Amino acid sequence: MTEKKILVGMTTQELESFAEQMGEPRYRGRQIAAWIYRKGVINFDAMTDLPKGMREKLSQIAIINPLEVVDVKVSSDGTTKYLSKLIDGETVECVFIPHGDWDTICVSTQVGCPIGCRFCASGESYARNLSAGEIVGQVLIAKRRDNPNIVFMGMGEPMLNFDNLVKAIKLLNKEVGIGARRMTVSTVGVVQGIRRLAQLEIQVNLAVSLHAPNDELRRKLIPAKLPPISEIMKACWDYFQATKRRITFEYVLLKGINDKIEHAIELSRLLKGLPCHVNLIPYNPTVEEFERPSENAIEKFRQTLAKQGIPVTVRHEHGIEIQGACGQLRRQYLTVSERQ
Ligand code: SAH
Repeated sequence: MTEKKILVGMTTQELESFAEQMGEPRYRGRQIAAWIYRKGVINFDAMTDLPKGMREKLSQIAIINPLEVVDVKVSSDGTTKYLSKLIDGETVECVFIPHGDWDTICVSTQVGCPIGCRFCASGESYARNLSAGEIVGQVLIAKRRDNPNIVFMGMGEPMLNFDNLVKAIKLLNKEVGIGARRMTVSTVGVVQGIRRLAQLEIQVNLAVSLHAPNDELRRKLIPAKLPPISEIMKACWDYFQATKRRITFEYVLLKGINDKIEHAIELSRLLKGLPCHVNLIPYNPTVEEFERPSENAIEKFRQTLAKQGIPVTVRHEHGIEIQGACGQLRRQYLTVSERQ
């Protein structure tokens, strides 16, 4: 069987060449790009300005989106989680989060994750990197209106799939038309990736998952071999110098582990002077080992940071009843399919 060409992931120029290879004029490629990226169509029949013969041929030799949705879960607040099957049978998640006037789409960059943060369900298995088309394909599935925010905070560590991440960012920007300031890459602290991101021609936002104010505690939560906090902070300062963009620091609050007042004080010292914002994420229970702190403890932690002059918000989770935390839906799916 000859492999079908996957169109999502190709630039307009590449689609023009593809049309040419089919014996069609180059502008047909531009039409296809408009249909798949800007009008979001999912089948060739809908491409009404292409000749019927070309549409038929396309359906024989090409696939639009490499993802096929296999499960959709909608939460009472409208948060929608999509589980999709990839061509090789792997599965990947993306989440649509409505906020009234604007939407956020959370996308994965890898199948599973090789980092293995102890509190995160994504780290329980790792299969492979996602291609740029597989990353963009998630956005096309979840997108409902123009200009959503895109957060690379689904499964996987984006900086370990840097080239495909950058390709996806460029496609989202140039083909789908999503502004760079609407995109945020979240990293566990891959310093080399932070440095490379700062040099990118399309400058997106950076979020760093810190979770602890010192290396001793951080290593307990994130056993993977990563640079010390001092090096991560240095890269963050350089990132700010290069981009003038305020950095977000994510901090998952785990009861009795990293949620004490002394941790908040230590964290504020670490961040002092750097234009940043702290996003406190009350732990979304996935493993029995950890618990979410009480509302009172969360509020005290927040107030301590605020008093030290650190801009801080508590991220109220969306879709907790639909297994909203990273990797949870896929885990459930894997468990079910293993049982069958
Ligand atoms: N690998 C990247 C991006 C994916 S995770 C990173 O580490 O930043 C996005 C955020 O969700 C990270 O801050 C991660 O630590 C956090 N997270 C993972 N599991 C969680 C859980 N069960 N509850 C709350 N936050 C979680």
